[in-house]
Amino acid sequence: MELAVRLRRRIRKAARTARETRMFARAMASGWHPVLAQVIPIRRCNLSCAYCNEYDKHSEPVPLSEMLERIDHLARLGTAIITLSGGEPTLHPELNAIIRRIRERGAMATLITNGYFLTPERIGGLNRAGLDYLQISIDNVQPDDVSVKSLKVLDRKLEWLAAHAEFDVTINSVLGSGVARCEDAYEIAKRARQLGFTSTVGLIHDSGGQLVPLHAEQREVHRRILELGTGLFSFAHFDRFQQNIVSGLPNDWHCRAGGRFLYICEDGLVHYCSQRRGAPAIPLRDYTAEHLRAEASRKKGCAPFCTISCVHQVAMLDSFREQPREALKGIIDRRKQRDPSFTPPPLVRALSYAFLESPASGFMRGLGRRLLGGK
Ligand code: SF4
Ligand code: SF4
Repeated sequence: MELAVRLRRRIRKAARTARETRMFARAMASGWHPVLAQVIPIRRCNLSCAYCNEYDKHSEPVPLSEMLERIDHLARLGTAIITLSGGEPTLHPELNAIIRRIRERGAMATLITNGYFLTPERIGGLNRAGLDYLQISIDNVQPDDVSVKSLKVLDRKLEWLAAHAEFDVTINSVLGSGVARCEDAYEIAKRARQLGFTSTVGLIHDSGGQLVPLHAEQREVHRRILELGTGLFSFAHFDRFQQNIVSGLPNDWHCRAGGRFLYICEDGLVHYCSQRRGAPAIPLRDYTAEHLRAEASRKKGCAPFCTISCVHQVAMLDSFREQPREALKGIIDRRKQRDPSFTPPPLVRALSYAFLESPASGFMRGLGRRLLGGK
């Protein structure tokens, strides 16, 4: 990798970390603004993965002016992270302009793509537009009847990303029914690590976003992929939701979709998530703080066996907000169950004492929020 790219990557990473820290502080300070909005700029996809219910073969891109209005309204609602997905979002001819607008409005810009259209030039364009994160889901090592999102086809693209991307890259492998060789997920996660990317593992859900339990071999591969992870705050390490799902158990949690998480379809309607399209289906331009509050509080019957991990992650932020001491202790305890020799890094221990346990913890939390731009 060129020295100049490495240097730019480091500078952008530092700036991104500062923005993420501010975002985290805001999410801690206020319980109602959207943490994450997933927005669809085009429903069409160039592929036809057998398990997917989120694409068609004919839709036109949403006009740029409408996309910019949607981004502006999400910013007015206080949205912290805006993720573009699809269909295949790189089919949108004005994708870079949309990303630029997200950044101009102060949100983190992320992109979920199948990676097929990535070239060094397009990666350069995404760098210049200010993309923060890119995620590619890879389903198998060799293409098959279920999916052609395979390592064999995409490895060249991954190498280009490793050489040119100034944004962070996450490779998501998948486990579940429809994946012929579950060992592939491990190979994909290993390759991702080798190239310096983050790796995650997703679980294939049914058409309602609900759990399809894993069998023993799949559970073992899942465990080995988690072993590849390193950071204390790696979602996979402390995610009791995913552990329960893997074991076929329900989760006791409150889904705040419609408030803390929004899904905006190509027609500009707000839905709970990709698998609960049709509710509440209110036009984004009419969506207000009252809608955010009402929908975040509404109980969702689909929650116990839900597999939509990004909504789980948003809920986890709220559990930190509401019960920071218990949430931090839970993370450390679960990490220790996996690795009995684990001790939290000194910085985590110091922060935990300063913000949660010391006699001045209330003052420290207020000071931290002010310094980080929270309200
Ligand atoms: S690439 Fe993504 S959007 Fe397209 S069919 Fe496959 S899973 Fe669906
Ligand atoms: S629990 Fe929430 S995220 Fe999961 S399927 Fe239901 S509405 Fe969607």
